[in-house]
This record gives sequence, structure tokens and C-alpha cells, in this order.
Amino acid sequence: MHTHCLSCGRALRSAASQARGRGRHCAAKLRAAAKAADLRDYKAHQLEAARELIEDAAIIPIRGRRIYRAVSSDGTELYTTARQACTCPAGRAGRDCYHRAAVAILTAA
Ligand SMILES: [Zn+2]
Ligand SMILES: [Zn+2]
Repeated sequence: MHTHCLSCGRALRSAASQARGRGRHCAAKLRAAAKAADLRDYKAHQLEAARELIEDAAIIPIRGRRIYRAVSSDGTELYTTARQACTCPAGRAGRDCYHRAAVAILTAA
């Protein structure tokens, strides 16, 4: 449950918005961004994981709109993610990870 929108910080009133972590407007903007973002470097399963990460509010901005904190899939670790880098094992190995795909979507919104 979220009391404030993860995108714009406004208070969330409806139960659906609180569960989603975003107001209707910001959720719609994010859906549009998922289509508009340059995601050619990512595979379909990574994009699916990225969308889930965003929907679960498991990736949230920690510094402006450039640096994000992502929760690992088993929920035990936190990664710091930007458009071009991520502290997860794949990211540290220099590979494209779905955390970065999520940031690409979020920053395109
Ligand atoms: Zn919002
Ligand atoms: Zn990563």
C-alpha cells in the first residue's frame, strides 16, 4: 500500500491507486512510456520483468528521476539502478538487466 504517488508524490485517494502506487494519470503516462521508450537492447522476458517491477512498485526513485532503488526478485537485496548501470550481478557483469529496462521506461514517462 502506498499513500503517495511514486511518480509525482501526490496523495493517493482511491484504493486502486494506493495498491498500484500511482495515480491514474501517472499510471497511464507510464503505460505510454513503456511503448515509447527505446528498449531495443532488451529481450521480451526482461521487459515483462521490468513491467512487473514497476507495477509492484519494487523500483522507486531515490534521487530525482535518474537514480532508482530496485528490490531483487527474491526480495532480499536492494540494487541501485540508473539508465546505464546497475549494481545487480548482471549489471556488475556489464550485461543489460531488467532493472535498467525498468528505469528506461520510468525515465521516458
Ligand atoms: Zn502521480
Ligand atoms: Zn540490474
